[in-house]
Amino acid sequence: MVETHRRTVRDLRRTNRTTVLRKLYFEGPLSRQELGPLTGLSSGSISNVVGELIADRLLEEAGTVDSDGGRPRTLLRVAPDSGRLVGVDVGETRVRVELFDLTLTELARADLPLPADGHDVQRVVRLIAEGLEAVTAGESRPLLGVGVGVPGIVDASGPDGAVVHGQTIGWDAVPLESLLRAAAQQRGSGGPFTDATPLFIDNGAKTLGRAEMWFGAGRGARNAVITLIGSGVGACVIADGVPYQGSSSSAGEWGHTVLRVGGRRCRCGARGCLEAYVGAEALLDRWREAGGDWRAADEEGALAELLAEAAGVTGPDSAAGALLDETAEYLGAGIADLVNLFNPERIVVGGWAGLLLGPRLLPAVRTAAAAYALRHPYAQTSIELGRLGPDAVTVGAATLPLARFLETGGTGGTGGTGRTGGTGGVVGAGLAGAESGAGRVALRDQTEHAVQPKGTAR
Ligand SMILES: [Zn+2]
Repeated sequence: MVETHRRTVRDLRRTNRTTVLRKLYFEGPLSRQELGPLTGLSSGSISNVVGELIADRLLEEAGTVDSDGGRPRTLLRVAPDSGRLVGVDVGETRVRVELFDLTLTELARADLPLPADGHDVQRVVRLIAEGLEAVTAGESRPLLGVGVGVPGIVDASGPDGAVVHGQTIGWDAVPLESLLRAAAQQRGSGGPFTDATPLFIDNGAKTLGRAEMWFGAGRGARNAVITLIGSGVGACVIADGVPYQGSSSSAGEWGHTVLRVGGRRCRCGARGCLEAYVGAEALLDRWREAGGDWRAADEEGALAELLAEAAGVTGPDSAAGALLDETAEYLGAGIADLVNLFNPERIVVGGWAGLLLGPRLLPAVRTAAAAYALRHPYAQTSIELGRLGPDAVTVGAATLPLARFLETGGTGGTGGTGRTGGTGGVVGAGLAGAESGAGRVALRDQTEHAVQPKGTAR
């Protein structure tokens, strides 16, 4: 009886901390007086919880506002320096590791190129460990957790943590979570990343989806599809506020839906996948077959040359222009499938290639999507560009430990083992918080992110 009572009091205390932290994170800075009606907590509870969170250094004062004739009211916000978060993007050509403060302002970054022969598992694990060491060197604040976005299906249902099935990069049931923990143990550098650091692994398109839903073009939507177009193609389907997972977390593999029966060979081994037409790697293959040529050594540069050529250097009849028009139709048809299947209110085109191609392709993509989709659901949806820039995968990966930090009221962010991302509850809670935060956001305007150099605040 006494034990039950104790637990209930403790649960209530944690719930109140979570409520206040989340409100201040997404809508702060706010005064104690504003927090009461916004959280439904009594002024006594607010006073207790806020006092506790300040003592724990999770909240700090952020100036004052005048109140009608009374004393000025102190504003409170979540302290950006109360902890650190790391987001990792295992990309097609490099591993990117970024260190963030609690408001997801980037503090440090490491870009570690992958060799041309690809994603050797041990090498990727070593690069992640090296990147973590580099960005956290000399860091004294607590590391609340590490989120990792990978190009593959992440299954966390087994006993050994997250396992990655990355068919297009040759990963067959790779136990990435246990490998990363073993690497941390082995290196034992005394840095903040240890084998006890909460670790979250999720599909890269899904971490991108989280970031756009929390802070970008998906904000406020309950049914949306966030697409990632890079070398490959993926998607994160948000159904009624939470990512749709399917029976083993692989739902949303939009890139491997068939666009043309018997069509081009895809990296997954099948024929005619959407990715085999609109993924950057495939698009450049198609350009080469059409007689195209480029000087850049990387895909980003090559795609930029394709766009420049189509923009009129050689006139509108050029192969480049025709190729892009055809690609817009393919992409529009793929998006029409999403419209017909999921009835989303918003479709966001993201990923580095999506953002690069978007301004040129989007009008034609909308026309094609309208032609291929059913009229009624198409009329309910909008097709927009992502707003977080090409780094959204790392930002989204960092939201995995951030969600846990908020969910546990700032008490359970360290010292435990993380769960792999993608659990509906975590994301659902985060989305609910993000949704209510229209207007006053701790993270200001994320659209700047794409163009800002390393190390500057978003
Ligand atoms: Zn495929």
